Amino acid sequence: MRWVYAFTEGNAQMRALLGGKGANLAEMTRAGLPVPPGFTITTEACRAFFQAGRRISDEVRQQIAAALKQLERDKEQVFGSAQQPLLVSVRSGSVTSMPGMMDTILNIGLNDDTVEGLAALTNNPRFAYDCYRRLIQMFGNVVMGIEPIHFERLLQRLKQQLGVQEDREVPADGWKRLIVDYKECIQAKAGRDFPQQVHEQLLLAVEAVFASWHNPRAEVYRRLNGIPDDQGTAVNVQSMVFGNRGDDCGTGVVFTRNPSTGENRLFGEYLINAQGEDVVSGARTPLAIAALRDQWPDIYRQLEQVCRQLEAHYKDMQDIEFTVENGKLYVLQTRSGKRNAQAALTIAVDLVREGTLDKQEALLRIEALHLDQLLHTRLDEDAATDVLAVGLPASPGAAAGIAALDADTAAAWSKEGKRVILVRPETTPEDIHGVLESEGVLTSRGGMTSHAAVVARGMGKPCVCGCEELHIDLEQRCIAVGNRTIAEGEWITLDGASGRVIAGEVPLKEAAMTDELRQMLQWADEVRTLQVFANADNPEDAQIARRFGAQGIGLCRTEHMFFAPERLAVMQRMIMADTPGERAEALKRLLPMQQADFAGMFAAMEGLPVAIRLLDPPLHEFLPKVGELQQKLQQAIGDTDKEALRRMIRKVHELHEANPMLGQRGCRLGIVFPEIYEMQIEAIFCAASDCMDKGIRVLPEIMIPLVGHVSELKALRELVDQTAERVLGAERKRACPYKVGTMIEVPRAALTAGQIAEYADFFSFGTNDLTQLTFGYSRDDAEGKFLTRYIDGKLLPHNPFQVLDTEGVGQLIELAASSGRSVRPSLKTGVCGEHGGDKESIAFCHRAGLDYVSCSPYRIPMAIIAAAQAAIQHQAERLVTAAHKDAS
Ligand code: PEP
Ligand code: MG
Repeated sequence: MRWVYAFTEGNAQMRALLGGKGANLAEMTRAGLPVPPGFTITTEACRAFFQAGRRISDEVRQQIAAALKQLERDKEQVFGSAQQPLLVSVRSGSVTSMPGMMDTILNIGLNDDTVEGLAALTNNPRFAYDCYRRLIQMFGNVVMGIEPIHFERLLQRLKQQLGVQEDREVPADGWKRLIVDYKECIQAKAGRDFPQQVHEQLLLAVEAVFASWHNPRAEVYRRLNGIPDDQGTAVNVQSMVFGNRGDDCGTGVVFTRNPSTGENRLFGEYLINAQGEDVVSGARTPLAIAALRDQWPDIYRQLEQVCRQLEAHYKDMQDIEFTVENGKLYVLQTRSGKRNAQAALTIAVDLVREGTLDKQEALLRIEALHLDQLLHTRLDEDAATDVLAVGLPASPGAAAGIAALDADTAAAWSKEGKRVILVRPETTPEDIHGVLESEGVLTSRGGMTSHAAVVARGMGKPCVCGCEELHIDLEQRCIAVGNRTIAEGEWITLDGASGRVIAGEVPLKEAAMTDELRQMLQWADEVRTLQVFANADNPEDAQIARRFGAQGIGLCRTEHMFFAPERLAVMQRMIMADTPGERAEALKRLLPMQQADFAGMFAAMEGLPVAIRLLDPPLHEFLPKVGELQQKLQQAIGDTDKEALRRMIRKVHELHEANPMLGQRGCRLGIVFPEIYEMQIEAIFCAASDCMDKGIRVLPEIMIPLVGHVSELKALRELVDQTAERVLGAERKRACPYKVGTMIEVPRAALTAGQIAEYADFFSFGTNDLTQLTFGYSRDDAEGKFLTRYIDGKLLPHNPFQVLDTEGVGQLIELAASSGRSVRPSLKTGVCGEHGGDKESIAFCHRAGLDYVSCSPYRIPMAIIAAAQAAIQHQAERLVTAAHKDAS
């Protein structure tokens, strides 16, 4: 078994075995770049190390020894020799970049003897002893587990005694004294000596770097970034070059383009007479890379050449570490540079224009998720320091405002011109006016598909929910977090992308739809097959969605149209009605309101389909909570008021259900109260007719929610057709190409989709409810309760309310789509649950052959890019499969 590869033996394709850094070092060596020689111990050796109970096998040891011998020959130096000492660095290198998460040790090979040799050889004792003390410090920390602070204190004490400020002012004798102190510290804390045997140093360092794969920060990073735990890290052993040997030495980091703006110009910094960690640690202020052009013009030119060569080779912006030793340039590492969302777009578009990438390669480079950053207001990160708590990142964007603890207060303050953040234990449809008037929403309960999350996402407002560290005290009108208290009316800032809740007002940066994004969306349109629709509930959102590239409305949740206070009052009257006559009266008043909304949406989406879902939530959601009503009753004075409140309490009790999510909602409501649906259908066709009169082309789609049995759809489809005929008349009805379809959100509907398709022109998978009902997890409770444990404990790979569960829920979707199409080949299919805005779920929809996804307006550009990426990847896989078939 081969466990160790020299840099001359590997290449970029061996990333899984050699890790990213090892594969890149090998690739650079092959390309003839000035890389100090070395070798890589594989990720397989790391896995074997853990399997053997954290022990390096004899075979791996032998291969390390042989690779070291070769390195000695290449460098004409000897490991452990005082005459020609070979020194090496030992660094981790995982398959997926995990910057700074694991450990590194430099200057291995120094001991009491070789340090003297190095001092004599370089004629620079100060340098040699500085290297040695750094080794002892890093080794003491990484291998022997001693906290860095102990070494730090000794160094500070020395500098005080010498009366100097900076490390570089410490003379050779100072370092010698510190080395004695460090060794004593190691003996005292670890109970053993710093090893003088250089081979022992090396093996212990390799073991420690392997072991750092499981240090807590690496584990957290992997969990956040979805990196598998069993991947393991490779270890790179590389001969040292020194940037701290004198004034013709230095070290630095350079990006081939600017990682914040994408500008095509070298970006980075360097330090003269320093080692790598000095640049990172911030102990000395580095110089901008542009200064190198004047200081060392030759080196700068070589560096430019290296940057061009590496960028062309990897077809991507690179982040390169370099060292200059006695006037000679060495490249220590290259990797794809991290960049922000705007820079990523600019770089990808520029690389296409420069002829380095083709359009499809450029599309695959875009991290669809990061586009969220770009399309929302964001925080000025430098100012976002006083983090109070972290909740679920439910709707991206950032907002600052004064905390208001109920919707009425929020709305009232906003009307006074104040910027407000609505802070509630959870929100209900009753709070919608408060949400509407707020800059953002913060809740202490509820998950990613809770009411607050869904509504805020739809409105493009930032939302942090399920922030359980907050205790919202509605009596004392304050929020308690740990030992701090924020009174109602004090400023807070939300970052909906990270879930952070920050004290005070943090400055914000505005969102923008840039030329580069437009260009990228155009390229995406050329390859994607999946259409992208918007979930929008009003004409304004429909307009935003269209600007972002929506091809229609996939879901208009009509209940959201009843939440403005004046409409809610009429809605409540309709619910409270004791007689059909009273109900009809209230419905008559609601009709023109709905009609105006629909007409606005048709106009905004002229020529594109608009899917309007008939009322879905249970009626009690439109009434206040019993507790609030009782409180009002206690305060009420007039008899009429009291009686009205008592009646409402009775009604709320009447409508009460133990499991409202499984109760009288969706089409069940429409079957029991057909007059409600009839009013909505009438409003849709009146609006369509108005638009047609104005020459606006309308494509209404009427969507029936929560169907579980074909008879429900059959009955309600008849209601639609009859109402259309009544409102439009036979002739006009023919001129209005409307569709009737159903949400598929109940497993039974998916299982009997063949029957249902007989009455449906389209299926819209409501994956929020379909997930809830397939798993049997309440979408309002699960995320705040057991689901986090499930995800942390890896019982589930993802939160199924965010990333579609392709194995279970996905199976139902595939089954329903195919059996539906076998009955009705023209059946249009798509997803309109929250998954419609999730990259992985979008890829599933593409593969399952669905026609569209529908998501909130602000996610549309991201969904368009994700749809294109899915198409490109799927096509590439099909080509590979076809080639395999041909070959066999
Ligand atoms: C769904 O269930 O996926 C859906 C879109 O409907 P709602 O979230 O309104 O229940
Ligand atoms: Mg639903």
